[in-house]
Amino acid sequence: MSASGQLPLAGMEPPVAAGPDRVGEAQADYISTEVDTSIERVGQADVAYVKTGQLLTKTTGFLAAYDFTLNPYSGCSFGCTYCYAAFFSRDAAKRDNWGYWVNVKANAIELLRKRRRSLDGELIYMSSVTDPYQPIERQLELTRRLLELLAERWKPKLVVQTRSPLVERDCDLFRRIEDNGGRVQVNMTVTTDDEDIRRTFEPFCPANHRRLAAIRSVQAAGIDTCITMTPLLLVNDNDSFAADLIGTGARKFIAQTFHFNRGKFVAQTRNQAFDLMAKKLGCKRDNFVGEYVKRYRQFFGVLNKKLRDNNLPPLGEGKDGFAPPF
Ligand code: SF4
Repeated sequence: MSASGQLPLAGMEPPVAAGPDRVGEAQADYISTEVDTSIERVGQADVAYVKTGQLLTKTTGFLAAYDFTLNPYSGCSFGCTYCYAAFFSRDAAKRDNWGYWVNVKANAIELLRKRRRSLDGELIYMSSVTDPYQPIERQLELTRRLLELLAERWKPKLVVQTRSPLVERDCDLFRRIEDNGGRVQVNMTVTTDDEDIRRTFEPFCPANHRRLAAIRSVQAAGIDTCITMTPLLLVNDNDSFAADLIGTGARKFIAQTFHFNRGKFVAQTRNQAFDLMAKKLGCKRDNFVGEYVKRYRQFFGVLNKKLRDNNLPPLGEGKDGFAPPF
């Protein structure tokens, strides 16, 4: 929030009271100009307000089957150590401090309001290089205001990708978009059943059991849901984790292995993370990748069997798994 106490979001009427193995995004989201020099601290992250040139970005690469990505923020307070989005930042300090900064696109609402071309039927992926439910979103409601505008004006086909339970708050708007003739699917990223692993690889993310509870309630509200295990980090108990995933009521599941060789790690976190992974897998550090892949395949088999038993589609993988659902 600015020093004046007003949230500096342009185009919002009336002003709001204080109350994110991904994928194919251009760097344009990071080309922005500071509009408010004040920085506030939310949790461990510094939050700044910036002006962006565009809100809806034409897709490329992994998400090319979508029409646009929509990122209300840049940077991400969740600070996953392996986050690919960190490496889109041109600023080395920002890459090293990933998880400790968030930029709010202060003119996002204004940009969407000014849009003249219809978004009816357009496939929008929100978000590809940040999580649209940052902790600051709870008070700022920027994502919520953007959803309201989408619901008022168009019939978009929207995939919302998050790992925050805050997504539950906006079920009324997802419902409204659907009732108006648009489509919505909420994707929840769930990566492990092991909280030690979660805390090491995703230090500031909500616990996985909270994410599962949230997706259960979104599904119960009549919104299509998908659980994205992207990446799947480690599973301690294949049967129980598979049952927990299916027990949410989600209709779709996508998984992706962790890419140890290609994976980038922010701020010297690689060694600590890999040591813990090897320890959990019960093997030496020099052969833990092979052990991980074996365990991933075992879990894949267990989950696919349970999916079949429940008349659900098989687990999707990689780019095909992320194909638009409608
Ligand atoms: S939630 Fe994690 S993976 Fe997603 S953008 Fe944020 S830091 Fe990256």
